[in-house]
Amino acid sequence: MALIVQKYGGTSVADVGRMKAVARRVADCYREGNQVVVVVSARGDTTDEMIELARQISLHPPEREMDMLLATGEQQSIALLAMAIQTLGLPVVSLTGPQVAIITDGVHAKARIIQVQTERLTRELEAGKIVIVAGFQGISGDNEITTLGRGGSDTTAVALAAALGAEVCEIYTDVDGVYTADPRVIPEAGKLTSISYDEMLELASLGAQVLQPRSVEFAKQYGVQLHVRSSFNQNPGTLVWEGQGMEREMAVTGVACDLNVAKIGIFGVPDRPGVAARLFGSLAARSINVDMIVQSTTAGERNDISFTVGRTDLEQAVATVKQVIGEVGASGFTTDAGVAKVSIVGAGMITNPGVAAQMFAALAQEAINIDMISTSEIKVSCVIRQEAATQAVRALHRAFRLGEAAELAVGT
Ligand code: ADP
Ligand code: ASP
Ligand code: MG
Repeated sequence: MALIVQKYGGTSVADVGRMKAVARRVADCYREGNQVVVVVSARGDTTDEMIELARQISLHPPEREMDMLLATGEQQSIALLAMAIQTLGLPVVSLTGPQVAIITDGVHAKARIIQVQTERLTRELEAGKIVIVAGFQGISGDNEITTLGRGGSDTTAVALAAALGAEVCEIYTDVDGVYTADPRVIPEAGKLTSISYDEMLELASLGAQVLQPRSVEFAKQYGVQLHVRSSFNQNPGTLVWEGQGMEREMAVTGVACDLNVAKIGIFGVPDRPGVAARLFGSLAARSINVDMIVQSTTAGERNDISFTVGRTDLEQAVATVKQVIGEVGASGFTTDAGVAKVSIVGAGMITNPGVAAQMFAALAQEAINIDMISTSEIKVSCVIRQEAATQAVRALHRAFRLGEAAELAVGT
């Protein structure tokens, strides 16, 4: 008997037919003799619709109330799925994040899980029940309902799998697995049979929406094996695990694109110790994630500093920047929300020189201008104009011949 955590995303439970199909899938797993914990997301576009509803009421809704609202999407799903499983004659119970006691910090809209208490889960499992848990939500030490950021149900699933020591965490979604690029944008993208945690973490952080980055971080930290697969068929999906480090043929594993990017440029920043610490410390204090940072020295004793943030954080970042430039005596700032970030990812880059140059050449050939560049051992990212994003992804996918192998084993 194995303990299996399954997570079903929004599209997988979007309507009654799909909800019933998920119930049958869960039932099959249970009837095979497994203990099953199921994490579900809000149905279809429910979360987006609630965000839109809130915006119609208030341009700046308090984040606490947003969390209160958004958490209801997942609560609807767990109740409906539990009903569907109950009609199949199986014992089942639904639990919200607070009922499980998924303890988070108090940062609304992007809370981080601190601890998952397993008492209630274990009790229900030992009573022979299928346990359905609401994804995306938790409770802070102050007893406030929190949410884990968009796509956060993935993280709930991995956290539960880690806490319970599950055999595997299956992520059921609307594509067959992890591809060399978003298969909706690049139809010739190939499905990866497996991928290492590190590469998956980069792909997810750089915009491949199929897994929330934090879920991959958790999986790596606790050694949880992930199986990303489709809820619409029985095809084997993609295994995300610790690669064995065999010789690799491909320098690049995948291409990712992030449209949720905005650039902020601060000019005339006094060139003295502590200024960058002041600026980025203030942004961090507001839980604003800063990505690329470029500082260029100009004439005299002043610098220009440019950096990127998530577009959804732009307004808050600008408020912080306004305050800091006044304090440190910088000349001014600009913002640009019309950019995108395209990236190539691959552990094979470590041993294949010239990959970055090949990327720049592929973009140049399309006459795409590069605004900012950042690299790590296993990725190269370029900020470009947003209008060129799809063209860039297509060109990079072609340049690194990612479409040539339909099924690729990477990181094994
Ligand atoms: P769910 O609702 O199941 O959590 P998401 O919409 O969050 O599903 O994630 C699945 C989507 O991720 C796919 O529909 C696909 O368009 C997108 N995606 C982006 N990059 C990739 C990739 N490299 N491989 C697979 N899917 C990707
Ligand atoms: N419902 C949330 C969202 O749409 C969480 C999730 O689906 O994972 O982002
Ligand atoms: Mg998702």
